[in-house]
Amino acid sequence: MTLILTTPSLPFSYPATFTPPSRSNPKTFRAAQQLSVDTPPPDPSPTQPKKTGVIIIGAGLAGLAAATRLRSENVPFLLVEASDAVGGRVRTDAVEGFLLDRGFQIFITAYPEAQKLLDYQALDLRKFYSGAQVYYDGRFHTVADPVRHFSDSLQTLTNPIGTVLDKLLIGLTRLRVLTKSDGDILAAKEVSTIEFLRSSGFSDSIVDRFFRPFFGGIFFDTELETTSRLFDFVLKCLALGDNTLPAKGISAIPQQLAAKLPANSTLLNSKVVSIDIESDSTANVRLKDGVVLRSELGVVVAVEEAEAVKLLAGKLEKKPGKPVRSTVCLYFSADSSQVPVRDPVLFLNGSGKGIVNNMFFATNVAPSYGPPGKALVSVSLIGLFGDVLDEDLTAEVVRELSGWFGEGMVGSWRHLRTYRIGFAQPNQSPPTDLMKDPRVGPGLYVSGDYQTSATFDGALVSGRMAAEALLRDRALVPV
Ligand SMILES: Cc1cc2nc3c(=O)[nH]c(=O)nc-3n(C[C@H](O)[C@H](O)[C@H](O)COP(=O)(O)OP(=O)(O)OC[C@H]3O[C@@H](n4cnc5c(N)ncnc54)[C@H](O)[C@@H]3O)c2cc1C
Repeated sequence: MTLILTTPSLPFSYPATFTPPSRSNPKTFRAAQQLSVDTPPPDPSPTQPKKTGVIIIGAGLAGLAAATRLRSENVPFLLVEASDAVGGRVRTDAVEGFLLDRGFQIFITAYPEAQKLLDYQALDLRKFYSGAQVYYDGRFHTVADPVRHFSDSLQTLTNPIGTVLDKLLIGLTRLRVLTKSDGDILAAKEVSTIEFLRSSGFSDSIVDRFFRPFFGGIFFDTELETTSRLFDFVLKCLALGDNTLPAKGISAIPQQLAAKLPANSTLLNSKVVSIDIESDSTANVRLKDGVVLRSELGVVVAVEEAEAVKLLAGKLEKKPGKPVRSTVCLYFSADSSQVPVRDPVLFLNGSGKGIVNNMFFATNVAPSYGPPGKALVSVSLIGLFGDVLDEDLTAEVVRELSGWFGEGMVGSWRHLRTYRIGFAQPNQSPPTDLMKDPRVGPGLYVSGDYQTSATFDGALVSGRMAAEALLRDRALVPV
């Protein structure tokens, strides 16, 4: 087990043990409000389970958001994480001076929940070009956001990536989503994204050459089976905000949230193996190493859906097996002179051929993603390619991109690492419920992107919602 300590000499300890407040006793409500989460008491006796207020299982964005909300009410908690760092699916590895995000991830600044929780300035967000370069018919075609890059979009009005009518329809669709609230969007009548695009009158050329690689890359779903609710939500966020990367890597987002939590409140390398509910507030949570933790206010399970179903043994409805979304991300190192552009632009494969879905030069967006003189190339595929060896996948990507940028250039790139991400996102094809109730039983709550939407924002919302349900049920906030 590893505890994130801000005071390295502190022994292993937990937040305060206390009498759980009740709705009928306003005194205990106030007492709980006054508990300090910064000054944990000495260790309990080794024979007793270690006690805390709330136990949150999983320190991805959902668990971190739940912890942040509890912290804001000064309610003690312990955030228990199986892996060696916070962030869950949002992690970055430092390799040979490069920052390798575990899969291509973009932070959209207009995410509403993220705006409330994160300090954007401290994240030092670096912007992408608002649009893309689409590879089609042996060359690149610009697709530009007309609001941000008006002259680019005018010049490319008649390119083969969609008809002029398509470009008008994009403008109208954008206007439609901007006039709707997020709540309305997430609860609207839904169809799959592909059905929505077809019924809206978009041509095959824009669907196949732009929407499939672009939204397919966001949802890891080039069939575009994902709900139209998410299409609308993401389109609205893209219209209102910028696509960005934090200068220190995507993991700067969860790290910023974790840094604001109290000392000693996060326990790493600690896999939970069972949850034993004793009453509507107390539960024993057992770790793989045999340690038992006791929660006196409730448990928030903020792990991936499949793991939550396992941990909650029968309490959480198991969805009929829709395939989860997978991706592979390959990174290459290049000399700065061996990249075709300096623009922070996303390249999409609109050709309908090959295995590359999208790629970009990460150091063009954020130079800090690579050491001086080097460029970082990030290439994403949709699906897991489980039956293809890593070296064969790399060779195929190099061959394909050589056709895009020239053999001389791509041949000089050096493969750094391949990330195969079997579970990138849950399947969010209709029917969906993007605002599920976090309560699964007395004192037991779930959060995670499968409860809301499989985005950074959805995970953050789900964490807050679980914490708020618990706070209300325990009368820790006025109902
Ligand atoms: C490659 C990739 C690209 C993405 N791109 C984007 C993007 O561009 N924009 C966007 O908005 N979203 C993107 N997403 C989606 C987004 O990252 C997720 O929706 C979100 O991070 C999910 O957060 P979470 O907290 O629900 O789950 P997770 O991040 O999965 O967190 C769950 C945590 O629980 C821990 N855990 C599991 N079991 C246990 C246990 N038994 N005991 C203790 N801890 C346990 C795990 O280790 C993990 O840390 C992407 C995801 C991936 C994988």
